[in-house]
Amino acid sequence: MRRSLRARLVATTGALVFGSIVAVALVSSWAGRREFRRFEKIVVSDAGHTTTTEQFLHEAPPSGREAAFAGALNRGLVGGAAACAGGALLLTLLFSRRIFGPIEALTRAARAMAAGDREARVDVRSADEVGELGKAFNAMSEAVGTSERLRRRLIGDVAHELRTPLATIEGYTEGLLDGVVAPSAETWALLHDEAGRLRRLVQELQELSRAEARQLPLQLRPCPPAELIDQAVRRIASQFAEQGVTLTTDIPAELPPVQADADRIIQVLINLLGNALRYTPAGGSVQMRVERQHGAVAFHVADTGIGIATEHLPHLFERFYRVDKARSRALGGSGIGLTISRAIVEVHDGQIWAASNGTGQGATFSFTLPIALPGSA
Ligand code: ADP
Repeated sequence: MRRSLRARLVATTGALVFGSIVAVALVSSWAGRREFRRFEKIVVSDAGHTTTTEQFLHEAPPSGREAAFAGALNRGLVGGAAACAGGALLLTLLFSRRIFGPIEALTRAARAMAAGDREARVDVRSADEVGELGKAFNAMSEAVGTSERLRRRLIGDVAHELRTPLATIEGYTEGLLDGVVAPSAETWALLHDEAGRLRRLVQELQELSRAEARQLPLQLRPCPPAELIDQAVRRIASQFAEQGVTLTTDIPAELPPVQADADRIIQVLINLLGNALRYTPAGGSVQMRVERQHGAVAFHVADTGIGIATEHLPHLFERFYRVDKARSRALGGSGIGLTISRAIVEVHDGQIWAASNGTGQGATFSFTLPIALPGSA
């Protein structure tokens, strides 16, 4: 059961107040009796004869009685208050140790993290608010560690991706300088291709970083799905014809408009259609299908190509993940097209996923976009 710090604070204050009342009552009653007995002795000795207190009180002037009573009461109360203060101090010390101990541990861990220790964690022992704070700190520390690992991996991946085209360009230019490679049209075309690959990579990386930081300026408006598909297909149809792959579309007539930035979604469609074409041999086919789902429209790009083994499916949208690195590179892929597509779909509040029955069984890439609400233009 979660023990709330607030409840404990209220309980402790209650205990203190109750304890104080009991302590005052006990101490003042004890001190009162003692004072009274002391007073009785004084009365006896002062009188020099055996006058009882009762007699004295009856005989003594009213001011003397008042002073005696006030003195006894005062001493009782002061004694009771002192006992209370002592108890309160002890309880506060114990309680503050329990609160400030974990807070000090948190401060130490935060300082360690700021100094670069990404493994800094706190030992969470309580289930109260301070415990929750500790858990939140550990989750944050874990997230910072993960993003640090991803950042390091990204730098490694980028360096690796740049190395291949740069090595080719360097090798060919050296060959040209030494006269080993002939300055033929073929050589220039190859150098041009590699430079183009580098430019695409840099461009895609820039886009990826903007998309992942959710800094893509989106111009959302209601878009008819058929219009988006039409534009994407028009731009890529000639490449399908060139490579002998059939492209068909299946778009129901009554589809609601989706809330989207048309240019970005066309970019996603071209990426998925381009991949389908890249991984489908001549003679195969690709179908672009759309359907209405609950609150969304789903776009599917299904091909009859090389397919994807199940173990690769969860990783396809990771940066630089390729099932077959050499094949993707040879076909001009950068390995981040799907990562950008996912970022674009997600900033639209949509979802993207891949399905395949395995190698040689073709693949289907799908994504959803929310239906535009009436009046959201
Ligand atoms: P690439 O530029 O390498 O195509 P992507 O991010 O677009 O990079 O795709 C990542 C990987 O997913 C590809 O390298 C490929 O292995 C796999 N892939 C993507 N689309 C398909 C498809 N339609 N059929 C088979 N494999 C695919």
